[in-house]
Amino acid sequence: MHPSGGPPPRILAPYVRIGVQDGTLFLGFGSVQQSIQDRNLWRPLVQLADHFREPRTRAEALDFLRGPCRVEAARAEAVMLTLEHGNCLILASAYDPEDRYSRHALFYELSGADARRVQRRLASAHVLLLGCGGIGNLVAVTLATAGVGALTLVDADHVELSNLTRQFLFTEADAGASKSRALARELRRRNPGCRIRTIVGAPTDIEDLRALPEADLLLVSADSPGLTGLVNAHCVDSGQAWLNACYVNDVAVWGPLVVPGTTGCWDCRLLTARAPADEPELAALIGRVNARYQAPSNGPVNMLASSLAALDVLRHLGGFGVPAALNRRMGVWSHELSIQEQPAERDPHCVTCADVHPATPRHQGAL
Ligand SMILES: [Zn+2]
Repeated sequence: MHPSGGPPPRILAPYVRIGVQDGTLFLGFGSVQQSIQDRNLWRPLVQLADHFREPRTRAEALDFLRGPCRVEAARAEAVMLTLEHGNCLILASAYDPEDRYSRHALFYELSGADARRVQRRLASAHVLLLGCGGIGNLVAVTLATAGVGALTLVDADHVELSNLTRQFLFTEADAGASKSRALARELRRRNPGCRIRTIVGAPTDIEDLRALPEADLLLVSADSPGLTGLVNAHCVDSGQAWLNACYVNDVAVWGPLVVPGTTGCWDCRLLTARAPADEPELAALIGRVNARYQAPSNGPVNMLASSLAALDVLRHLGGFGVPAALNRRMGVWSHELSIQEQPAERDPHCVTCADVHPATPRHQGAL
């Protein structure tokens, strides 16, 4: 409430731009743009937008339209409603250009969320990153600089020169250093407010996973064989959300975002090709061929998977928008720039999650 007792004043969101193209006036651009063909609305709408460069209440704005702008009542209301759509007006207190998170605040407001609430949720969130390689680097720096309150970095590896094509937070001087510790050092330089813990090690069984600190979300980018299944079992059992991000040769892949008891889990659908269980000899041969697999890692494809996964993590933890990887595994085929989605809805007979009920995590996300 405003001190006067009415609704608080609002301002025109700084991301609102107006333009005319092919006889249509566009108010805002992107997924919430409005197109206005009725030329009679153009002038009062632009006048009203200009009026809202300063904080105004709705009543003040309507007085402005009907007074100085000489717009009759019904049209003034129509113009007002147009400007109130598409998240064009935000609370005057929602945007402080001096705040370090102010540009992200605009993004959250554009998505229809209360930016201050999103930022508070992120500040109270803890993400555990299993793997501090290419994807771990970029997701970690995205979350730390976005204001996620705490990160735990888990990796047993040490930096090698061949990592530098995509693990951008490491330098030549880091060669031989622990990845999780080198990454932590770089994150602290960028946001000292983020609480960072490092673990030099690689979980290989369910007991190792249980020994890790509990988090609001696990981001898994380590490529150890069988790890995704183990993480899924652990997270479903403990009620922790988790997200896998990787690349499959030239395809950037992320998802499904597993929220135990609410979404499908890794075991609900067969998401990856496996060796034939009914042909052990052939399976052994396939295993021998696959054992020599070396990922053709590529910086840009790595960035693609990292950025889309990080955006979903922020959506889930911050509670704005809807994560793209809910109940599906997403792939961007980088050469042809097409998007593939594998359904990953919940199977009521899933051996892993059939009996699991929704947990009440601190971050339920936008489900
Ligand atoms: Zn399941």
